[in-house]
Amino acid sequence: MPELPEVETVVRDLRPRVIGKTIVRAQVNWARTIATPRAREFVAQIRGHKIIKITRRGKYLIFHLSRGKFLLAHLRMTGAFYVEKPNTPRDKHHHVVLALSNGRELRFRDPRKFGRMWLVDDPARVVGKLGPEAPEISIKDFHARFETRRGHLKPLLLDQTFLAGLGNIYVDESLWYARLHPLRAAESLTRVERARLHRAMQQILKRAIAVGGTSIDVMYKRVNGKSGGFQESLRAFDREERPCRRCGTPIVKTVVVQRGTHFCPTCQRV
Ligand SMILES: [Zn+2]
Repeated sequence: MPELPEVETVVRDLRPRVIGKTIVRAQVNWARTIATPRAREFVAQIRGHKIIKITRRGKYLIFHLSRGKFLLAHLRMTGAFYVEKPNTPRDKHHHVVLALSNGRELRFRDPRKFGRMWLVDDPARVVGKLGPEAPEISIKDFHARFETRRGHLKPLLLDQTFLAGLGNIYVDESLWYARLHPLRAAESLTRVERARLHRAMQQILKRAIAVGGTSIDVMYKRVNGKSGGFQESLRAFDREERPCRRCGTPIVKTVVVQRGTHFCPTCQRV
């Protein structure tokens, strides 16, 4: 499931391929992929807009279009963008196809169909409630956020209104590096522990972005069809029963808020 480093990778992969191109035609094959407006209106409204730039906010891609429109996309579980020639074969999972002025097609493929797109005048309608960006928040602001919130660490870090961008993989990895149990009460963290978590989280996200994200299954593919490289560097996530790289204790997998959660029972105590 794509998280911040994977979405950032998709944004960077897309920029040289689609910026400056005009959307000459749109086709929607699965109406529910378009969250707003209705699919028919989306097809009519997006036509003729040029793609000016692409940015990211949390796990959302934001295409800045000409004449004040924004196309936002969330990949959710299996969403992926490809830029291909019209004669490249499509399958039943290509739910949205945007024909571009250079003869290529920007295609959104999503086998599980949870991915969504929004065509809006104001991105805040979609991303307005997100918390600060996880890779950018300052240590001072990080401390301040903890002053106002309570609860277990893992659910708190997954909450996009607390911090934007983290998901299951990078929360488990950040907590392993910071030597914090996923069920620690957030309000019980010392300043030193918070600082350790802040540092771990930002280093992991930067390193993951640098290698194109994590591909542990077929769920996440880059625009060029290749996989990311961070799966080689995982320390907790997807390492159930394998020895902790710090102490040798087998990594334990449990369930926290319905999410598979990996940690070292020796290094990460409650
Ligand atoms: Zn350990």
